[in-house]
Amino acid sequence: MSKMKCFYHNEREATCTCVGCGKGLCSPCGSISKPQRCADCLTEANRKEYNSFLYTAIVSAFFFFITAMILVFTVGVSAFRSPMWWFLMAVVATIPWGWRFLHSLFPVFFLSTSILLMILALIFTALLSFFAGIVVMPWQIFSIIRLYARTRAARKRFFEST
Ligand SMILES: [Zn+2]
Ligand SMILES: [Zn+2]
Repeated sequence: MSKMKCFYHNEREATCTCVGCGKGLCSPCGSISKPQRCADCLTEANRKEYNSFLYTAIVSAFFFFITAMILVFTVGVSAFRSPMWWFLMAVVATIPWGWRFLHSLFPVFFLSTSILLMILALIFTALLSFFAGIVVMPWQIFSIIRLYARTRAARKRFFEST
């Protein structure tokens, strides 16, 4: 069909192109990811996911810190001797993780035209985040590590001659 060569294997004909940048890919390179992406575009596609994770981690740490501050001013420093208050801080810190999870499930939730509906959705999601966070936080951490490991392994495959 075309005489384009694989970007990674000069000796091979390209059987498809990267959906991100249009580089030619041979059939083994094209089978590495779905949709077909080159090594650079594969990394780029995951960047959004990494950034969202980092952002959630920062907000989570902030929530933890704010709860600790509130405790210092209400209960006093003695609060840090009680496991119950540590538990509360940990639970509050999981809220952003629940929020991130729900937002990925229902992105349209936040795009309502009615203000009242938006406020209701906001309260509902905040409440739901409280319960979802505890469950999904370990999963989200696991997922990002897995994504990182998979991308690393996939990137390697482009440069190995198969
Ligand atoms: Zn590409
Ligand atoms: Zn190739």
